[in-house]
Amino acid sequence: MLSNKGGFKLFDIMGFRVSADWSWLFIAVLLSWSLASGYFPAVLGSGDGGFFLGLGIVSAMLLFFSVVLHEVGHSYVARQNGIRILGIRLFIFGGVAQMDREPRSPMVELKVALAGPAVSAALALGFFLISEILATGAFAAVTLFVARANLAMVLFNMIPGFPMDGGRVLRAYLWQRRKSYYDATKTATTAGRYVAYGFMGLGALMMLSGAFGNGLWLVFIGMFLNHAARSNQQYAEYRRWYDPVDGWHSKEMEPIDGRMSVQYFEEVVLPNSALTEFAVVRNGRAIGVVAADSVQRVPWFMRGLVRVADIAQPRRATSADFSRDPFNVSSRIQYKIYDRFGRLVDVKG
Ligand SMILES: [Zn+2]
Repeated sequence: MLSNKGGFKLFDIMGFRVSADWSWLFIAVLLSWSLASGYFPAVLGSGDGGFFLGLGIVSAMLLFFSVVLHEVGHSYVARQNGIRILGIRLFIFGGVAQMDREPRSPMVELKVALAGPAVSAALALGFFLISEILATGAFAAVTLFVARANLAMVLFNMIPGFPMDGGRVLRAYLWQRRKSYYDATKTATTAGRYVAYGFMGLGALMMLSGAFGNGLWLVFIGMFLNHAARSNQQYAEYRRWYDPVDGWHSKEMEPIDGRMSVQYFEEVVLPNSALTEFAVVRNGRAIGVVAADSVQRVPWFMRGLVRVADIAQPRRATSADFSRDPFNVSSRIQYKIYDRFGRLVDVKG
């Protein structure tokens, strides 16, 4: 989603590299300035402009550190589940944990998605308690702001539109229910696009009714979310074709020994199986596929002599509708073969 170019490294935390996009500097300055000129004078009354600016910068830094910790939450749980984290990136609309791949199961997706908001909720509570119990004056104003910002982060992120965390929770739920990563992603990203259109519409209304700056900001967020949802939708479409686990080329196949005779296959295996396609395995590797009806291609008097390995078809995607392949990856389609217990037998490329 975001390139690694055009940014700078900030620090490492728990083994994760945190870097910032140049666009982040803009929002860091804007936020510090608007806190110094709006929030702090309103809360604390009249005071020194330099002091307010200092408070603004401290608050903005605490908020950005909260964003980093939110992403650390996602990253930590992802790493626990075998997903490699390329880094945490701050950019104009917040932060993102860059993972080298999507979670492979709904449960992992759910845990990774909830980890970030959980951290933000804990930070909101912590800062709120500090502002209520320990802090006074400027310190209380700063911590209250950070508490509210973290709470807002939880609420915003839990909106069920992909790629927001709530959208990932939605996808995990649908994925679990429908057993299809592709279908789940399609629905969750469509929801994400509706949410994005909602932001854009609301932003436009705000711009017309006088809140020009905030409205424009919401329009930009909507545009960004729409773009992200759409590219995720395309990625899922791509995966549907490329990744056999979920696409049409995923098919339940029972592995059979290639040394088996066609006669044995016809008389013993076929009557005892509900499947119509079998993965022919030789020396532990799937060498092709044999369909139930391919027995007919062998004359009956030869069936005791010919082995299934001899009639196995290297599986090709000849029946696929390539016009729907958006990334033209059909030439390198892989498929995975699972046995009836769901164990991966082989991957053919
Ligand atoms: Zn998040």
